[in-house]
Amino acid sequence: MMNILVVNCGSSSIKYQFIEAESNTRLAKGLVERIGMSGAVLTNTRHDDDTIKLTGEILDHGMAIEYVLAVLLSKNHGVIKDKSEIHAVGHRVVHGAEDFAGSVLITDAVLQSLRDNIELAPLHNPHNIRGIVACKQHLPEVPQVGVFDTAFHQSMDPQAFLYGIPYVFYKKYKIRRYGFHGTSHFYVSNRYAEISGKPITDLKIITCHLGNGCSMAAVKHGQSVDTTMGFTPLEGLIMGTRSGDLDPQMILYIMGKEGLSLAEATTLLNKHSGLMGISGVSSDMREIEQETEANHSRAKIAFEMFCYRVTKYIGAYAAAMNGVDAIVFTGGIGENSTLVRDHVCNSLEFLGVGFDKEKNESGPKERLITKGDSRVSVAIVPTNEELVIALDTMAIVNGEVPPSMRNMIKNHSLDPVD
Ligand code: ADP
Repeated sequence: MMNILVVNCGSSSIKYQFIEAESNTRLAKGLVERIGMSGAVLTNTRHDDDTIKLTGEILDHGMAIEYVLAVLLSKNHGVIKDKSEIHAVGHRVVHGAEDFAGSVLITDAVLQSLRDNIELAPLHNPHNIRGIVACKQHLPEVPQVGVFDTAFHQSMDPQAFLYGIPYVFYKKYKIRRYGFHGTSHFYVSNRYAEISGKPITDLKIITCHLGNGCSMAAVKHGQSVDTTMGFTPLEGLIMGTRSGDLDPQMILYIMGKEGLSLAEATTLLNKHSGLMGISGVSSDMREIEQETEANHSRAKIAFEMFCYRVTKYIGAYAAAMNGVDAIVFTGGIGENSTLVRDHVCNSLEFLGVGFDKEKNESGPKERLITKGDSRVSVAIVPTNEELVIALDTMAIVNGEVPPSMRNMIKNHSLDPVD
């Protein structure tokens, strides 16, 4: 039996799951919100649906972890009697740069390289590091493992990961496409292979992770060969508040016209763009859909732009892989929005997608939404990043190759050409 605490730290929140990894049983899950703000809340739900909500002052991530441990150990709402029943902690870490092409045991040296990479992911990595430090402090004897959002995409070739700018910037500042959501793209592509009964090494799959952040990946024979997010999670698809692909010259133009600082331009592209910026209504797809139905013209164009960009990348990735066997939808929008899937799949007949409207509208959460004789299958696969983190963590603690690295055949990251 191995109980793994899976931790995902954001700037003011910690999402966690406590999982018995061998049997894939979730013992508890929860969320700490408003860390460092007034009225912080911890919500914990046990496997039997017993839910408690604690409110109070939670000043930092260290204190939040202390509360999480207290809940897991609590007599009435907990699931363990002693801290020693937590056998390992698995952390979601956003950016591993080229240093980490797979999950690792977090040593002092690893922690230092995460610190060295803060500049590459200033919005995410500092919080991940805080979470690791907090767990080390409260569970000093317990091994900790880092699972990186970028790792799965380290298999990309230079032709996909380099940008068309002077090569010196790759060497000097590590500027390249990294891609994110890797754990999710890995999970849903492998899960699709499992469902289809075919080996992943025979399949060409396009995975669409559509949530608040959105990205797609071209997964050829189990390896990510391209992905829409780039140097940062800003590139690619139109997202809740992020712009996705742009002509970079245009932002320089706007900065000049509006007298924006670097920080202001960063906020403009990351927080005020995307569905929110286009529609002026909301970053939330449910509201965009409601407003579209109510004939709000900017919500409608935002919806159409969102779907069009997904469709366009499906075409691009089918070409990148010289074919496609399956398209997989996941994430809050991918799993739940019948309308988005409908809109996207309606333009894919040319590829051999025999879309089934009825299957798209209802059925089990995990299902195919194409007709039986469709040449290309389309599936909905609910993502489960926590499970990947728990299984990788267990493998590393047991001295085995983590599942997410078993198919790894190459890692092109280091110095492709000189
Ligand atoms: P995150 O990326 O923060 O994990 P999620 O994966 O939960 O977010 O995705 C959030 C997005 O999913 C929001 O845009 C939300 O509107 C959308 N979403 C959730 N349920 C539905 C639904 N039933 N129909 C359309 N969109 C939905």
